[in-house]
Amino acid sequence: MARIAQALKGFMLLDFIKAFGLGMKYYFTPKATLNYPFEKGPLSPRFRGEHALRRYPNGEERCIACKLCEAICPAQAITIEAEPRDDGSRRTTRYDIDMVKCIYCGFCQEACPVDAIVEGPNFEFATETREELYYDKERLLANGDRWEREIARNLELDAPYR
Ligand code: SF4
Ligand code: SF4
Repeated sequence: MARIAQALKGFMLLDFIKAFGLGMKYYFTPKATLNYPFEKGPLSPRFRGEHALRRYPNGEERCIACKLCEAICPAQAITIEAEPRDDGSRRTTRYDIDMVKCIYCGFCQEACPVDAIVEGPNFEFATETREELYYDKERLLANGDRWEREIARNLELDAPYR
């Protein structure tokens, strides 16, 4: 009986040493988790986040109101209305995206001949109401102004693969 008790003690000690070793191993290995939102992981240049409408460096909006993005959108999330300007150029008078319908497929960006509508790097645009996810042209252009540097850099990084 005494021998059995001694053997059990030996096994328990062995288990303890193994568990301790395992604990120490993971204590010193880099952590697999991030302390979000204080830490953020890297994003691919192809990441498809919040939409933005871009401008040219002179401030002119890129969109020429061809409506290709509206036509290709499988979720029918984009609504565009357009009119010619006095100078004969054609521009949108309305550009809405219903972000609730959007499935972030990226087709609008792929279809755009002038890189006007893009899905930028921003993924932190959760809202409290549904209405806040109905984006209009003003909101989309403001997103473009805010993220232009990152968007331009991502497009440049992705260009060799297209
Ligand atoms: S990402 Fe896809 S679903 Fe969303 S607006 Fe563009 S085309 Fe439509
Ligand atoms: S965003 Fe691009 S694809 Fe859509 S209407 Fe404007 S120019 Fe055409």
